[in-house]
Amino acid sequence: MTADISLQDPSTVPGRFWHRLGDGRVQCDVCPRECRLHEGQRGLCFVRGRVDDQVVLTSYGRSSGFCVDPIEKKPLNHFLPGSAVLSFGTAGCNLSCRFCQNWDISKSREIDRLSDAAGPEDIAAAAQRLGCRSVAMTYNDPTVFLEYAVDVADACRARGVRSVLVTAGYVGDDARRELYAHVDAANVDLKAFTDAFYRRVSAARLQPVLDTLVYLRHETDVWFEITTLLIPGHNDSDAEIGAECAWIAENLGPDVPLHFTAFHPDFKMRDVPPTPPATLTRARRIAQDSGLRFVYTGNVHDADGGRTTCPACGEALVERDWYVIGHYRLTDDGRCASCGTAVPGRFDGPVGRWGARRLPVFLAGS
Ligand code: SF4
Repeated sequence: MTADISLQDPSTVPGRFWHRLGDGRVQCDVCPRECRLHEGQRGLCFVRGRVDDQVVLTSYGRSSGFCVDPIEKKPLNHFLPGSAVLSFGTAGCNLSCRFCQNWDISKSREIDRLSDAAGPEDIAAAAQRLGCRSVAMTYNDPTVFLEYAVDVADACRARGVRSVLVTAGYVGDDARRELYAHVDAANVDLKAFTDAFYRRVSAARLQPVLDTLVYLRHETDVWFEITTLLIPGHNDSDAEIGAECAWIAENLGPDVPLHFTAFHPDFKMRDVPPTPPATLTRARRIAQDSGLRFVYTGNVHDADGGRTTCPACGEALVERDWYVIGHYRLTDDGRCASCGTAVPGRFDGPVGRWGARRLPVFLAGS
């Protein structure tokens, strides 16, 4: 891919995590794809490339749009429940999922069309002004804009605003350490539980994603939840779901929330039918039978699949309908109001009342 990258462009900044190869190319180490670049080439994600003998990020400070959402939409059910989150993304992605539901952004090669130019401080200030308790880097994978993501997270932290990554977790070892040292929470897509699926459908590999999950659980304080989009005929067999849940229970423990969400035909997978609600219910039952304590269904109306239950006394603690919280029986510090058992997560203060609203925000020039 020949690039037209200019170092004079303010959205082009030096990249981190790359090294020189003996054959004259340079290798980007931000993600396991390890793109090897000649001068003037861009990597698969399109937003990183080589110019003037260095790897650069070309989307710093450029956004594909801002929106205030409920945190449950990320989805995060155990992180500041009911609160508003300022969400944004840029362009480009390091995976090539055939079912991508944000492909217009993630596969965009027209960075100039990115609508909002916003520096980290602009974003943090806007979140505060809008009453958002966190900023989510979402829509496309923040791994590819690591330098921008880290600066946004730092600017947020300085103002007491939390930061959230919505990611496929496909990141190199050193880049992973850097990225997660700055953020407070993540939702990690575990797209399937076979390497064959990752290779065939996402042009990636499974093991680096598992490495990210184990790293988050055992070496950081980052709160994280997992999402698996169930695609009929591709990753929804009892055996595969069972293997995924058993791996989570054994390697991450029973308290990491798991969301099973419904696929709808998109991008290059329009020939696959939508996920039947019964599939989500079946997956949830398998996960619960594997010992996982907080398992949710998403993109459907499902009272059981939206409920958080106290693992000690069985009390219904939180009822959700899609992204809207109804019944709420947690204390401000996240304990069961009946028996006092602490629910894993990040709870601080009363439940938010943002509801299901989606509020587009224009930051350009702010
Ligand atoms: S971040 Fe982009 S350029 Fe770097 S290895 Fe991954 S896909 Fe390639």
